[in-house]
Amino acid sequence: MRTKVSAHKMFLAGNWIGKEETIAVHDPQDHSIISTVPKASAEDMLLAVEEAKAGAEIASSMPVHERMAILNRAAQYIEDRQEQYAITIAREGSKTIREARKEVKRCIETLRISAEEARRIHGETIPFDQMKGSEERVGYYYRFPIGIVGAITPFNDPLNLVAHKVGPALASGNAIIVKPATATPLSALLLAEAFEEAGLPKKVLSVITGNGSEIGDSLVTHRDVRMISFTGGLEAGKKIARKAGLKKISMELGSNSPVIVLKDADLQEAAESIVSGAFCAAGQNCIGVQRVYIEQETFEAFSSLLIQQVNQCKTGNKMAESTDVGPMINEKEAMRVESWVNEAVSKGAGLLAGGKRNGAFYSPTVLTDVPDDCTIAKKEIFGPVVLLYPIDHLGEAIERSNDVNYGLQAGIFTKDLNKAFAAIRHLNVGGIMVNDSSDYRIDGMPFGGVKGSGLGREGVRFAIQEMTEPKVVCFKLNQSWQPNSI
Ligand code: NAP
Repeated sequence: MRTKVSAHKMFLAGNWIGKEETIAVHDPQDHSIISTVPKASAEDMLLAVEEAKAGAEIASSMPVHERMAILNRAAQYIEDRQEQYAITIAREGSKTIREARKEVKRCIETLRISAEEARRIHGETIPFDQMKGSEERVGYYYRFPIGIVGAITPFNDPLNLVAHKVGPALASGNAIIVKPATATPLSALLLAEAFEEAGLPKKVLSVITGNGSEIGDSLVTHRDVRMISFTGGLEAGKKIARKAGLKKISMELGSNSPVIVLKDADLQEAAESIVSGAFCAAGQNCIGVQRVYIEQETFEAFSSLLIQQVNQCKTGNKMAESTDVGPMINEKEAMRVESWVNEAVSKGAGLLAGGKRNGAFYSPTVLTDVPDDCTIAKKEIFGPVVLLYPIDHLGEAIERSNDVNYGLQAGIFTKDLNKAFAAIRHLNVGGIMVNDSSDYRIDGMPFGGVKGSGLGREGVRFAIQEMTEPKVVCFKLNQSWQPNSI
């Protein structure tokens, strides 16, 4: 499907701004140019921060009912144009049109949850008389917005992961500046359009398009930006965390998620769920399944069910309704995945399916017997490849699952409650799915990881906690006053 190339403007403090220098946005499928966006400079970012200072004042003085109304109107605006949003996601990124439609639905949900959570930003009374000498004090704390949030987002969920920062920031009365991924800026700009149409006051939201390496520092190191909410890869995350200095940081990073299949599991259900979890969004999914640990007795039965499923996956034109797996985000990424698979095969891994590249497309690939010293065994693949390992018992699966520098989500398939609880207790991750793959998330649950998978939690209510601070109020009463002194 081809549409005319149209230049987009960026959203600077509520105004649509063009620039002479632009960045081309490509459709990864055929590398055609689908649009251009302004190439912002560091000065543009500094201007956005300057404007956001006034925006933070406006946002924090906006009553909760008004924040809720704006969030609900933005959600409705998107709902009324779902297909346009889905086509944008699918064209600029690597999701199929069916995957893109799901993301739009989730974005609407994220914004509606944000509206709901705005009314639940509570404080508590504090029993000050717990300390001797404080008998005559009463008070409470409430949560106040931190001011300006800097949001940096990745390419793989270009709409909903932006909504996961914008929704909670606005619900809690903050101003927010978004730096979307250079590969996929159009969905974030469409989100800004929804907020403009919903009546969000100017200066509260900016979406600044440009290369992270050129404009990122002006946002990350700015004294007046009180929080950096980053979603992306571990290496960029580490750099940003080092530079951010004394401000809040939330890091939603990558993983190489494990799933354990025990011999009592429903193997058909496990195979279906693992195939979907490993290959959706062409494997470019932070909670995508990368490593599967299968009890020895069922390894053969499980892997043949899995291969049957993989062979049914239809790779190709992402705009076709029947396509299951689209291209990767660009050819360079597909070549990286190809080289990691080739390294594993050259070191003795078995190739059970896939292993073929065509431009930015990489076929759904299944490897077994991958030696531990292969890149693919420890690092995040972020591509359509899954590794199968036979294990002797659950203890071994848990130990191997934990033996990496990531810990976002994990899955276990078993009917044995005691084994499920042992896995829940001992797997070092931010979320465990029992009888499902690691690739399960709803937008209202706490989401985030441990170790190299990040710091802090998203999921609207939890992001709001990160984007607000408690302020304590304490009244010192006059001790000499007694009821009978009236
Ligand atoms: P990435 O290369 O780390 O980029 C993410 C964002 O950071 C982009 O907007 C990028 O801008 C920006 N950036 C890169 N270097 C920067 C710097 N030095 N200063 C400021 N900004 C900088 O990640 P990606 O390839 O887009 O996304 C894939 C990664 O995201 C995977 O590791 C995946 O697991 C992770 N992810 C995590 C979650 C989660 O919730 N835990 C969700 C989705 C994805 P440019 O595009 O301009 O370079």
